[in-house]
Amino acid sequence: MLQIAWQHQGRDYPGRGSIASARTCTSRNPQLARGCVPARRSYQSTLRGGVRVNLDTGLIQEARFVPSPNCDARPAGAEVDVIVIHCISLPPCQFGSDDIEAFFCNCLDTSRHPYFHEIQGLKVSAHFLIRRGGELTQFVPTNMRAWHAGASEFRGRCDVNDFSVGIELEGTEDQPFAAAQYETLIQLTRLLIAVYPGISDAQLVGHCDIAPMRKTDPGPHFDWDEYRRQCRAGWRTRA
Ligand SMILES: [Zn+2]
Repeated sequence: MLQIAWQHQGRDYPGRGSIASARTCTSRNPQLARGCVPARRSYQSTLRGGVRVNLDTGLIQEARFVPSPNCDARPAGAEVDVIVIHCISLPPCQFGSDDIEAFFCNCLDTSRHPYFHEIQGLKVSAHFLIRRGGELTQFVPTNMRAWHAGASEFRGRCDVNDFSVGIELEGTEDQPFAAAQYETLIQLTRLLIAVYPGISDAQLVGHCDIAPMRKTDPGPHFDWDEYRRQCRAGWRTRA
């Protein structure tokens, strides 16, 4: 298994609030965001398995990076403290195509399916997509704001995009997710817990929780109990 690690140039890691203050890139272009990176220092954790993130770029090293233009800077002072789980399939109920990537990159071929005409022109993204086989794709650096939540609220705070990481699972609301997806999701979540100290157990939520009048994903088949139980290793390690 891969070793989990993170790289960070900031002075105050791992103190609370260090991430947002350490590196705030105002570029709307992730490629430009990647270009404003100083020399790196590497950190190793004792977490078993997993993935690595470069906190300067906000990129997971084991993810395939497909930059989406549908992102912007987080508000000044915003700290990531919520993870939002979604599900998506394109075309609806079909898995394995490149259409989700194309959708998040504003280059969906609308001739491929009638449904695509309905979503044509929408500008959305997520930080991550986990495919059915567990493969991890990143569209937006974690230090930038992905456009996944829409009109939303969490504990009295609006615009959840400002302070969250959005993770899409390739799937539908009427069938279970794959074991490989949970494996990747748990490793990714443990890493995010380690590097964003504000994330607590109660701040792992679904799109359904922050936009209950509009959204129902990830749906009843998502195993919240097991997900949270597995993620607790992240907090134990952090403690
Ligand atoms: Zn959603």
